[in-house]
Amino acid sequence: MRVTDYIDQAKGKTLISFEVLPPLKGGSMQAIFDTLDPLMEFKPPFIDVTYHREEYVYKKRASGYYEKTAIRKRPGTVGICAAIMHRYGVDAVPHMLCGGFTKQETENALIDLGFLDVQNVLALRGDARKFEGKFVPEKEGHHYASDLVGQIAQMNEGQYMDDLTDQSNKTNFCIGVAGYPEKHFEAPNMEIDLRFVKKKIEAGANYIVTQMFFDNQKYFDYVDACRAAGINVPIVPGLKPITKLYQLNSIPRLFHVDLPDDLVKAITEAKDAKARTQAGIEWCIAQSKELKERGAPVLHYYTMGDSSTIRSIAEAVY
Ligand code: FAD
Repeated sequence: MRVTDYIDQAKGKTLISFEVLPPLKGGSMQAIFDTLDPLMEFKPPFIDVTYHREEYVYKKRASGYYEKTAIRKRPGTVGICAAIMHRYGVDAVPHMLCGGFTKQETENALIDLGFLDVQNVLALRGDARKFEGKFVPEKEGHHYASDLVGQIAQMNEGQYMDDLTDQSNKTNFCIGVAGYPEKHFEAPNMEIDLRFVKKKIEAGANYIVTQMFFDNQKYFDYVDACRAAGINVPIVPGLKPITKLYQLNSIPRLFHVDLPDDLVKAITEAKDAKARTQAGIEWCIAQSKELKERGAPVLHYYTMGDSSTIRSIAEAVY
C-alpha cells in the first residue's frame, strides 16, 4: 500500500515508521532482523531502507602506483526490501539515488521493484563522493531529485525510456522526497531551497520526509513555510536520538543540523555512558510527544542499527 494511503487512513492519528541501513558488505540479513524484530510490536506500516552508492579508495600496487578502486560497503537495498516485506508483511520503502545511476539503470531498478510489489520509493539526489568537491551525476543520469521524481512519475503514466507509452504497464509508485527544516546545506537560503522542494512536488512527489532535527520549532516553522509556499503534501518528521558524546560533533558535521544548548548540556553533563543514553532518549521522547500532540502524520525514526534506544522511545510514546 502507498505511504500516503496509510496516512489518509490513519485520519489524523500519528503513525510510526523506521529507517534501517543495509549491513556492511559481508554482513547478513540477520542484522536487519535483529534491529527490526524488537520494533515490530509498534506496528509500523512501512520501513525505509537506505541506499549507499559505491565509494572509491586508492590502493597501493606492487609497482608503487596507486589504483583507484570502487568499493560498495552497504549493498543490498532491493533484496533487503523484499526480505522485510516477506518476513513482516509491511511495506518497504527503498531509497533511490540520482548518484551512480544512468536513467536507463534507474528505469531497470524501478521495474525490478515493481516486480517485487514495492509501491513506495524515496527519491534522492545523493551526496558528493568523498573525493569530489560537489555532486557529479552520471553522464546519462539525473542532476537533481526533482529529475528522478519526474522519471518515476512518467513510469506511473506508462512512459518508459524507449519513448513508447505502455498504458497497460503503468507503475504505481508513491514517491517520497527529502526536506530540510534547517535548509539543505548547499542552498543559499530557505526560500530558494523551498523553491526546489516545490519543484519535486510539482514533478510528482507525494510526501516529504525531513532530515533529523533536535528543536521541534524548526519543524513547525518548516511546515508553515512549506504551506506558505504552496507545498501541501504530508511532511513526515525524521527523528534520531543522540546517545553518545562524539555525536555532538559528528551529527552537525554529517547532517548540517544545530543542536540546542539544553541538549548539549544534558549530554555533556551526564555522569556516565548510561546517563548520556538516557538523556538522549528523554530528549527524543519529549520531541516525539510534542510532535504527536501537534498532529505530525508519522514519526520516522532513524534506527542506525540501535533498536534498544528506539524501542525505549517508542514504548514511551506509543
Ligand atoms: P535535491 O532535492 O536534488 O537538492 C539538492 C540541492 O540542490 C539542494 O541544495 C537544493 O536546494 C538544490 N536544487 C534542487 N534542485 C535544483 C535545481 N533544479 N537547480 C539548482 N539547485 C537545485 N543519501 C544517500 O546517499 N542515501 C540515502 O538513503 C539517503 N537517505 C536520505 C533520507 C532522508 C530523509 C534525507 C533527508 C536525506 C537522505 N540522504 C541519503 C541524503 C541526501 O542524499 C543528501 O542530503 C543530498 O545532499 C541531497 O539530496 P536531495 O534529494 O535532498 O537533493
